[in-house]
Amino acid sequence: MDLNKKIFKEVLIELATSKIHGIGVFAARKIKKRQFIAEGIHKEDYKDLVSWEEVKYANKDIKKKILDFCIGSPKGFVSPEDNDFNKLCIEWYFNHSCNGNVGFNKNGDFIAIRNIRKGEELTYDYGLAESNPKFKMKCNCSNSNCRKIITGNDWKNLEFRKNNLMSMLPALRGKYEGNEGQGPIK
Ligand SMILES: [Zn+2]
Repeated sequence: MDLNKKIFKEVLIELATSKIHGIGVFAARKIKKRQFIAEGIHKEDYKDLVSWEEVKYANKDIKKKILDFCIGSPKGFVSPEDNDFNKLCIEWYFNHSCNGNVGFNKNGDFIAIRNIRKGEELTYDYGLAESNPKFKMKCNCSNSNCRKIITGNDWKNLEFRKNNLMSMLPALRGKYEGNEGQGPIK
């Protein structure tokens, strides 16, 4: 019996320096299209959002971490375990690309949206998940479809939705008309 296989999960992802930005997530082995990569954002996580109101009391180090790492909604953001930024797991380090190879399944977990080679950087389009209307980020990913500016409103764009709907965070897939002002979450 192969004991290793029984005890340990297969190593799929690891951190390394990225040409895109600082540190990124890389494929430690070949990953197949639709394959589960890491836990993402679940429905319950939206119940534990830290509100933007509460962020006012955070110091500038924390504010930077929130900006760099956290997926936001109109109401607040998804905070790491115990609100402790010393506990960020590998999947918190995905960089953005307008032509990413990672998206979300119907549970909100990260999956490969195409076959990925060993050693390839894993990226997802932040527009698939970000819905904080104030979020704005420059992009230089050099893909032909690069939007240059990534915002927390991209998920509402009809063209974007048409191209990406089934890779979006499930919370953003539903109809958004009539949801505006209350955020995407039912
Ligand atoms: Zn881009």
